Amino acid sequence: MDIGGGVTCCSEMKSSYSFDVAPPSSVRSHKHDTDELKNNYINHDSHHCAHSNGIQDDVSSGSASRRKWALLPSIVPTISREEVPVLFREEHVKHGFRMIHQPWSYYICSIFQLHNESMNVWTHLVASVILTYKLVEFSSQIDFLGDCHSWPMLAGLLSSIILYAFSSGAHCLQSKSELVHYVTFMFDYTGIGLYGLGSVVMHHWYCSEASFYEVVKNYYLPAGILLAFLTTYCCTVAKMYYTRPYPPMRKIWQIVPVAGIYAVLVSPIIHRLVLCYVYGEVCTENLTYHLYHMFWFFLSGLFFASDIPQCWLPGRFDHFFHSHQLFHFAIMMSSLHQMDANFADLQSRAFIFRARSSPTFLSSFGPLLLVLAADLGSILYFTGHIKTKMVKKKSL
Ligand SMILES: [Zn+2]
Repeated sequence: MDIGGGVTCCSEMKSSYSFDVAPPSSVRSHKHDTDELKNNYINHDSHHCAHSNGIQDDVSSGSASRRKWALLPSIVPTISREEVPVLFREEHVKHGFRMIHQPWSYYICSIFQLHNESMNVWTHLVASVILTYKLVEFSSQIDFLGDCHSWPMLAGLLSSIILYAFSSGAHCLQSKSELVHYVTFMFDYTGIGLYGLGSVVMHHWYCSEASFYEVVKNYYLPAGILLAFLTTYCCTVAKMYYTRPYPPMRKIWQIVPVAGIYAVLVSPIIHRLVLCYVYGEVCTENLTYHLYHMFWFFLSGLFFASDIPQCWLPGRFDHFFHSHQLFHFAIMMSSLHQMDANFADLQSRAFIFRARSSPTFLSSFGPLLLVLAADLGSILYFTGHIKTKMVKKKSL
């Protein structure tokens, strides 16, 4: 049996155990050692991490060695692919899986440990912090409360912070159980849909040329609302109704609605690029920021749709540089450039959007609240469905 999370982690723990508790029998099998190690961690975890919840553990008999483990930097015993249920396995990933059915504290504490979700958690945790910082930074130059023309920007920023917070939370907690796995990823998909819609609201207001705005104004937001909901719904269907090894059709369920909402949100920018590069009109340097944003989004799509680089060397990218981590990084870069581009448009194109009727609270935040409500209804429905399925499975 192989314990992932890095050889160093594993060897540190073994040496602590053998030194502090009892020398292992010379005939003890490797599997026995590993199992005992995991059991000790489970007991230790309920003592250390869940202490604040008042959960009493069964090691209060006080093995000093177990308390010592709390001070060690690498204590999460991860397990190999074969030791987790099929639902939690990842294609081309061999090691570094966290155990299921542990206390919540185990998963929360695990963000400081090395396992195969660590980078997924941190990339989007960092993204949400940077975007929050951007919000604070922009608020020193924009009156988000008093100027209604800044509300679409606020909607875009808040939706992006929600996206990264939900994504980071999903990757942190998803290993707890089958039910938690599905529910946390449904929130992750909700974040994707909301981010798409926040971008639609923002681009509609700041990035559209007057001619484009006039043509699409009656359809643009309704299309964004529909596609934002479909993003969450279709990604949930893809998650629930396909089992590993996933067929290519699953990616189609995921990619089509996301590509659809991206096509809508990027359309005002494409219109401006055509005006600039084809007709030589209205070229501004803000378009460069938009091009950076589109480039990183394109890159994120490539990493999301492919299994590169882990398909070339299965097991070598379990902890770092897995395609999903690269996707996370690329989408973070895309939204950072996107926010800079919109901020630049907000400052330099006021003569265009201030000539229109002003945005309202309802037109800026209403679409997001509507889709959030619909998504929560969808999550409730699918959660009930999962619970029924699990009860049926147990009774078989
Ligand atoms: Zn992710």
